[in-house]
Amino acid sequence: MNQRAEVKPLAMPSQLVVVALGPVARTLLADIGSALTQIYGPPSSLGPAQQRPAYAFNKDRNQYHSTAILRRLAQLRAGLATGPVLGVTDVDIFVPDAPFVFGEADRDSRSAVVSLSRLSHGSDGKPADQERLKHRAQVESVHEIGHLLGLSHCQDARCGMFLSHKPSDSDRKGLGLCGTCRAALGLT
Ligand SMILES: [Zn+2]
Ligand SMILES: [Zn+2]
Repeated sequence: MNQRAEVKPLAMPSQLVVVALGPVARTLLADIGSALTQIYGPPSSLGPAQQRPAYAFNKDRNQYHSTAILRRLAQLRAGLATGPVLGVTDVDIFVPDAPFVFGEADRDSRSAVVSLSRLSHGSDGKPADQERLKHRAQVESVHEIGHLLGLSHCQDARCGMFLSHKPSDSDRKGLGLCGTCRAALGLT
């Protein structure tokens, strides 16, 4: 069954903006931007770096509420008068009904966030090497931007729109999208 057929894709934006929320390596931000351009087409640019999202901190959970981060990003996006914005942060983020999320996207405000926190480690708790972290950050960024462009989750475990539950899910995904998801966006 093709779930994506119900989703009307949005027009491809003229650019994609990546914004650091707290300390994130510039090379990693550039790698994320180049992956987004490679998969979706529009050029990506680096937006003004923001502070770590202290306003979203929940002390009971010792995590950051991703929906609060999206609200702030939506304001930033409106100020920049630009297309979709992806925030990248090193803090651990959550939504109330899940222990954590790798990212969240709000299609209405065209804002998304990806957390590097859990992608930075293996299941053994050891730090992931740079190449592995880069791949994970790229595929999860492609995932969130896919939501902003109108895609839903995909059952193909190698497609960027597959929902990752653990870092090894992100390792298995290819950098791009499956043929069905590409077709839903009108990409060839
Ligand atoms: Zn998703
Ligand atoms: Zn797919």
